[in-house]
Amino acid sequence: MNSVSAVRQPALTQPDPTRITVAYGDGIGREIMEATLAVLQAAGAPLAYDEIEIGEQMYLQGFASGISPEAWDTLRRNKAFLKGPITTPQGGGYKSLNVTIRKSMGLYANVRPCRAYTPYIESHFPYLDLVVIRENEEDLYAGIEHQQTSEVVQCLKLVSRPGCERLIRYAFEYARAHGRKKVTCMTKDNIMKHTDGLFHQVFNEVASEYPDLVSDHYIIDIGAALLAASPDRFDVVVTLNLYGDIISDITAQVAGSVGLGGSANIGDSIAMFEAIHGSAPDIAGQDIANPSGLINAACLMLTHLGQNKMAATIMNALLATLEDGIHTADLFSETYTRQRVGTQAFAQAIIERLGQAPSKLTPVQASTMNKPIEIRLAPRLKMSKKLVGVDVFLDWTGDSRDPNELGRQLEIVAGNELKLKMITNRGVKVYPNGLSETFCTDHWRCRFVAQAAHLKANHDGLLTSVPVTYPQLTQLLDRLIDAGLDFIKIENLYEMDGTRAYSLGQGE
Ligand code: NAD
Repeated sequence: MNSVSAVRQPALTQPDPTRITVAYGDGIGREIMEATLAVLQAAGAPLAYDEIEIGEQMYLQGFASGISPEAWDTLRRNKAFLKGPITTPQGGGYKSLNVTIRKSMGLYANVRPCRAYTPYIESHFPYLDLVVIRENEEDLYAGIEHQQTSEVVQCLKLVSRPGCERLIRYAFEYARAHGRKKVTCMTKDNIMKHTDGLFHQVFNEVASEYPDLVSDHYIIDIGAALLAASPDRFDVVVTLNLYGDIISDITAQVAGSVGLGGSANIGDSIAMFEAIHGSAPDIAGQDIANPSGLINAACLMLTHLGQNKMAATIMNALLATLEDGIHTADLFSETYTRQRVGTQAFAQAIIERLGQAPSKLTPVQASTMNKPIEIRLAPRLKMSKKLVGVDVFLDWTGDSRDPNELGRQLEIVAGNELKLKMITNRGVKVYPNGLSETFCTDHWRCRFVAQAAHLKANHDGLLTSVPVTYPQLTQLLDRLIDAGLDFIKIENLYEMDGTRAYSLGQGE
């Protein structure tokens, strides 16, 4: 760990500076970080810096996650981390540093404000001013993937109630703290009723505690389309990890300002701030990169640390610079650029405008938030859980992949206490009474429930759940092995608090 020598420490008369962690990163990282630190220093931001090394050099030294073990102590000690972009080496074995830091440090909320700066930055939506708050740790980004058969791979989508709750609470608290009026949830719960359904359900529960804010919900496909076509109708958007990844890039793109965007990754104790863009190796070392994204991220950090006026002062100087037509090459416009400048000269132009507000663009108002948002979760309740069946996944081709052939074998293997309820292939029911047109792979989900449940169903017409025991499941697996059937995995079927807690097969 080194001190950042280029940065003068604040004078002794100032309040105690907040120590933050800084990493220059790769490519244009050093240039844009130097520019950003120069602006912070000139503005008098009461910060002190500890530098850590991350990125390409660390990967090449054999640290698979791109960070040295000592750096974790610095990250843990300081409240905030201002991070330059890094280059992830191509090829296998390297882990994404961003994902590692987010998950290891519990940075659960990814916050990406997005605003149009027309006419200086071209956008069809001059009134676009929204914030995407994306879940940062769960969903398909849990990174649990398996190849299960010759033909089928799977990726587990994990969504937890506390994970949803703290993100969604953060979104509502953020909206309140920043004077926003509406929080929109986006999910695909018409299809993923349990995972996305939980996110939507928790959203509704939390929204009811914030009657001062409007809340609504869109299915993600139409939501994304509306974000591209009329983004100015949105204010704060909260969504799951993958959708958030996609829609935050859509909004940055339609705002016309991918190069200007910053993002915050918020955790309970620490937070990480960075530009949206990458390390831009194609322009590294030429003093032409635009430092605005990282400066924007630094302002998000100042607000997070309660230095709201400082953040607004710097953002307004940045806007005044854009408005005065002082632009880096990526922002060049025949109409609006008066002076095309390099990275450090652009930072100098911002420094010269500290204290000024833009005259045409709407000035940034200092946030009224006076402390970092703290989230308290509802007590965790244990649900009552009843085992009512099992889905056994098989790798099977048989002679002709005929589901009826597999069904006949499994009816026998089911034994006296269990009953084969159905077989699906890629989620579609193919046995009993499947359609001959359904395309089948070598991956079969075979659902077994208690025989007694079926006897009862035959009697009163209702398929009620009857408990299944663990020995019944293990004996079933033994019989499958004896029959030469290759089971890949099982998923237990539960009722939670008396409600079915698994999806039905399509056509079940
Ligand atoms: P990129 O964002 O680095 O570059 C895309 C294009 O935008 C390039 O033409 C580049 O010159 C330009 N550009 C980016 N930032 C700019 C700036 N500040 N000023 C002017 N022009 C800018 O995306 P990429 O080329 O796909 O990725 C390059 C590397 O960055 C890859 O190794 C990738 O893994 C990494 N990356 C890192 C992060 C991160 O650290 N958070 C994010 C995205 C990509």
